[in-house]
Order: sequence, then structure tokens, then C-alpha cells
Amino acid sequence: MMTINSITSLREALKPARQAGKRIGLVPTMGALHEGHLSLIAEARQVCDVVVTTIFVNPTQFGPNEDLDRYPRTLKQDLEACKEAGVDFVFTPETTELYPPEAQFLSIRIAELTDHLCGATRPGHFNGVLQIVNKLFNIVQPTDAWFGQKDIQQLILLETMVREFNIPVRIHRGKTIREADGLAMSSRNRYLSAQERAIAPQLYAEITSIRDYLKHGGDITAEDLDRTLAAARYRLTEIGFKIDYLSIVDVRNLQPQQRVYSDRTYIIAVAAKIGNTRLIDNIIF
Ligand code: AMP
Repeated sequence: MMTINSITSLREALKPARQAGKRIGLVPTMGALHEGHLSLIAEARQVCDVVVTTIFVNPTQFGPNEDLDRYPRTLKQDLEACKEAGVDFVFTPETTELYPPEAQFLSIRIAELTDHLCGATRPGHFNGVLQIVNKLFNIVQPTDAWFGQKDIQQLILLETMVREFNIPVRIHRGKTIREADGLAMSSRNRYLSAQERAIAPQLYAEITSIRDYLKHGGDITAEDLDRTLAAARYRLTEIGFKIDYLSIVDVRNLQPQQRVYSDRTYIIAVAAKIGNTRLIDNIIF
């Protein structure tokens, strides 16, 4: 495994594989790696000849009052985990390598896909995500790239970017990897106190029971749906969550729905804070 921090060196290192027509898989991460990241790497390893992982805490996707400064950075362990997982190249650029001070002139405009969910509560976040992934696609020029369903709005935006900008990268969806009690793995879980960690799985428990109700509940009216979501929000608030959103959105446009129909696909998505830690989760059904 090679660890590389300059764009030029990474391009040089990947040149032989590209010229030989090899399949190059990209797994972008912000580090503090866990089993969720490693499952994406394992899938890339199975499909591709060369696997590139990037570890970069991207400042442009953090808002002014968010956790950029205290985001966990565990590079040494991350590199060991990458090596163990069979990664060929780890790209660990400094911020100035990707964002030289003079580069401030372009951004990607996003239409209604960011009106709701995390787009509404984290203004500018997804502009930063699309910016960095677009850059990484151009730097690495992968044939394939892996992203987790845990960040479903991000995944749908990236699929849209690739489609609408004709970017020749095949995007793969990685399923959400969970702790034994259902909590979705996240680099931010390490912020949780023991007490917070104990209630954290309730997020997944609530969206699972909403999904079960919607699947088996027969003809569900707008009032039923409204009442179900309100009850779940109430229970989460009672045990200490501050809810950003708990919504059912259409999988195609991410707009909140008042009714659900059995022949369509929806996402039940939740974001909530416990203490200072913001957790997200979702189920597609
Ligand atoms: P992050 O380092 O949090 O930016 O995540 C890097 C990639 O790992 C993104 O594509 C995430 O969606 C994905 N990811 C994060 N958590 C999980 C998880 N629990 N299961 C599967 N993929 C995940």
C-alpha cells in the first residue's frame, strides 16, 4: 500500500493501471474509519483491480458552527486498517493541496434535492460534498466509486451529479453497517457518552417500526401517517433527542410525503442530536 499526499504523485502512481485499462475503485472517506467504511473498501476490492481510498476531512462541507475542528482524526489506525483491507493507494492530501487559496470561483448549484432533510438543516453542506467528490473524481479518474446508503441524500445527489454531468464513474451503493443493537456506525459515534450511547439505537428502532407499520398497516390515511410520525418524534424527544427531522420522502426527489402508496419507493429519514452529537439514519422501503 502506498500513502500519497500530492495530486501529481497520485496521478503518476495510477497511470499504469489506467493505461492498462484496469478497473480503478474509489472509496472517499473523512477517516476515523469503522466497519461501514471497511465494507465499502471490501466491495471495491472484490470488483476492482486497484482500490484507492481517500482520507480527507473536507472543510467546505462543514458549516461555521459545526464540528470541523473536533472531527476525529485517527490517521495512524486508519492507515493500518486500509492496509489490512487490501487498499492499494491511500490519498491523504493537506487542505491546501485541494483548496489553494486562489481557488474560490466555482461551485455546483443544486435544485430542490437539498430543500429538505440535511440540506435544509445544514445549508451549503452538499455544495461542499459535490465539490470535493467532483474534484476527487477528476484527480483519481476511477471507473467505480462506493458510497454508503447511510448518507442517502448525499448518495442520491452524487448519483444525480454523475448522471447529469455525464461523469464516467459507476456509483455503487453500500448498505448501512450497524452495531449489534442497530445503531448505524458513524465516525461521530465516538463523541457519545455512555448514557447517550445507550439511547442512540432508538433512532433506528423508531424508523424500523414506522416502516413495519407502513408496510403492514393497510390503507394509511394522511392523518394516520402524520400521527405516526408525531408519536415517534414525541418518544425520541422524551428520551433526550433534539430532532432535526423525521420525515418520509419520495426516493426520486426527496420531497416530504403526506401519503404513501404501496407501489412507490420511499425513504424514512431521521436526523437528531443527543447532546452535541448529531446522528442520522434512514430506511428505504
Ligand atoms: P464519512 O467518512 O463519514 O464521510 O463516510 C465515508 C463513506 O462511508 C460515505 O460514503 C458514507 O456514506 C460511508 N459510510 C459511513 N457510515 C457508514 C455505515 N455505517 N455503513 C456503510 N457506509 C457508511
